Amino acid sequence: REREEEKIQYLDNINIQVDHLNEMVSDVMTLSKSERTEQGFDPERVDLITYCRDIVETFQINHYHTHDIQFDCPDKILIAEVDRKLLRRALTNLIGNAIKYSPEGGVVAFKLWRDGSVAFVQVIDSGIGIPEKDAQYLFNAFHRASNVNNLPGTGLGLAIAKQAVELHDGHINFVSVADRGTTFTIELPLVVELKREI
Ligand code: ATP
Ligand code: MG
Repeated sequence: REREEEKIQYLDNINIQVDHLNEMVSDVMTLSKSERTEQGFDPERVDLITYCRDIVETFQINHYHTHDIQFDCPDKILIAEVDRKLLRRALTNLIGNAIKYSPEGGVVAFKLWRDGSVAFVQVIDSGIGIPEKDAQYLFNAFHRASNVNNLPGTGLGLAIAKQAVELHDGHINFVSVADRGTTFTIELPLVVELKREI
């Protein structure tokens, strides 16, 4: 009897802690536009191609024995206003997920291109995919899909990535088929120089 009550008490405590954590995370992540500077959103002009290639190269070096990570960009230079640290967190999680959720020997493709004044970044894998029923919760903190089995993770990476991308006035979304693979796409506004007519 008493042990049962103790158990319930423990479970209540755990639930309360989880609620607190959830609140803390959403507090941390809902930085309003006016708070950006105080909170340390610190963008500078960056060539996305060099910036992304550097990030991808680190993964190529660390995962060459298990995954074929490809970098593909047809453009020469793509300038955007970027908080280097923040965007790196977002991209690192997408590439890390593509590796973690796809089998050894798999190909992970990182594509970067321009369409008008928008840069597109895609991370494509042929891994376990995301079940339809999980899709709508995927960007929620702590949500992990039902097919992750014993692959490690906290379910925070995508929630943070979404906040980071949106602080850059960008968008993030994905298309996935369970057991087939997943494609995440990020759109970021580019700095477009207005050419002066002579
Ligand atoms: P971490 O906080 O360490 O990033 P995580 O990788 O589990 O943990 P997220 O990056 O937020 O968390 O991703 C949330 C969930 O979305 C994952 O747990 C997984 O179920 C699913 N997911 C994300 N990317 C992929 C992918 N490329 N393929 C299959 N499932 C994915
Ligand atoms: Mg992750």
